[in-house]
Amino acid sequence: MAELKASIAGTAGKSPPATIRGDSTSLTPGSHRNQNCHSYRCGLTPFIALDPKGRKVTWYACGPTVYDDAHLGHARNYASTDIIRRILKDYFKFDVEFVMNITDVDDKLRGSTVPGDAYEIFTKLTKKYEEHFMRDMRDLNVLDPDEITRVTEYGQEIADFVEKIVANDFGYVTLDGSVYFDIKSFEKAGHPYARDGEGTLSHAVEKRSPDDFALWKASRPGEPSWKSQWGQGRPGWHIECSAMASSRLGSQNDIHSGGIDLAFPHHDNELAQSEAYWSEKKQQWVNYFLHMGHLSIQGSKMSKSLKNFTTSCGIGWEGTDIPEPAKQFLYPLSAMRDALREATKSQGEVTHQQLKAITAETIVDERLVSQASRPYFQVFRDFHARISPSNSEDTPTSSKELLSLCDRLRDVELFDLGIYLEDRENKPALVRPVTRDLLQSREEHARKMLLKQQEKEKQEKLAKERLEKGRLSHLDMFRTSEFSAWDEDGMPTKDAVGEPINKSRSKKLRKGWERQKKAHEAWVASQRTDS
Ligand SMILES: [Zn+2]
Repeated sequence: MAELKASIAGTAGKSPPATIRGDSTSLTPGSHRNQNCHSYRCGLTPFIALDPKGRKVTWYACGPTVYDDAHLGHARNYASTDIIRRILKDYFKFDVEFVMNITDVDDKLRGSTVPGDAYEIFTKLTKKYEEHFMRDMRDLNVLDPDEITRVTEYGQEIADFVEKIVANDFGYVTLDGSVYFDIKSFEKAGHPYARDGEGTLSHAVEKRSPDDFALWKASRPGEPSWKSQWGQGRPGWHIECSAMASSRLGSQNDIHSGGIDLAFPHHDNELAQSEAYWSEKKQQWVNYFLHMGHLSIQGSKMSKSLKNFTTSCGIGWEGTDIPEPAKQFLYPLSAMRDALREATKSQGEVTHQQLKAITAETIVDERLVSQASRPYFQVFRDFHARISPSNSEDTPTSSKELLSLCDRLRDVELFDLGIYLEDRENKPALVRPVTRDLLQSREEHARKMLLKQQEKEKQEKLAKERLEKGRLSHLDMFRTSEFSAWDEDGMPTKDAVGEPINKSRSKKLRKGWERQKKAHEAWVASQRTDS
């Protein structure tokens, strides 16, 4: 397995110890110095660790901002990361040091207004969501990071980091005590920077250049803040990762990862800041950027702002599992249905004895059933009663009828409770939640059935009208004032004024008479079957 489904593209190189390639996830070499190498365009590229012995791999992953529960889009990111981490570790036997940050100070967190100086509220909130995040990741079998760095625990290091950037002449302080990165000065010193115009989003008027981004922001009262030589402040978004990754992994790391949306500006700015900090080393700070693709839901990126997300919290119900209160009844119910379907397979009839065995499950006392479980209990009880031979003399035993009960249970009774039984070949049915796709296909099916029914009714009406035309007997059809004499078949022999009907007209009339005879016979027959 030299090629894996994930692309790792890079430039640094001696001999390639591992080659990884793919499509939706990509690893690009220091992106700001190689802007034309789009993540998706990079092909098969060797991965070479910085470690001269080729064993140790340092990896910094941009972690979650813990202001809300993670959704499946986040989960996809961390699960993909975890797969690649495990491949490097377990297959290629690298000694991977994996550090992930938790952003517990952020503009999004600031949005939740905090009275006075009581910002321990932040910590409480972020602690809670951090715990949720870790629990969700463990539920997904994602390995814990070797180390977690939290912005709140690195305030001082970050402030020091910014100070050094300023000391290196790559940052400047504005009047309010904020600090900005000086892109022009950075470029003048020979460093490339990926300009994509982030500056248009920022409104600080004192910036030297519109693209300059904040390294440090002066804090307002009530916001978490740290002491710095410029007064109380807090880190800009990009600087935290530069400072924490540098603090844990030093002046160069092998891999730096995150969602594809972090490629610019976050990762490009991280690179610029870190190389400004380590400027005397004159080396590339990150060797490989690894960016995870987005999770799409019905064609759009799953995101909080689009409100189309499914939380990964208790992955269960909202992901793949059914609600807890349902389990107690739905699993035995599905098993009962499976057994019934199995019994119908071998014969046209199912015996009472078989039904007895299938319904052997005893029904619990309804009074003991919790409110939340009750709807599922009722469906269980009703189905059990319908197929239980002891309950009624009319318990159906024909396979056809029993199978139609099974279908009804799946398509109506459970479906309406948001549960779907997915029948599988030679396996028990899968008990799963109803998804939007299932719902849509049911609606589609209902629409088709309705159209079919309407078409059927139309055809029936037409047929009835056709039949109705045969009500008039062929023997009477020509007994009108148009003629004055007829033979015993009711065929006219003379017209209204007593002239005989000529041969050709008579032939024509005979044809009509034959047609009506057929139609009338059909009508007579239909009258007989109706009565
Ligand atoms: Zn980051």
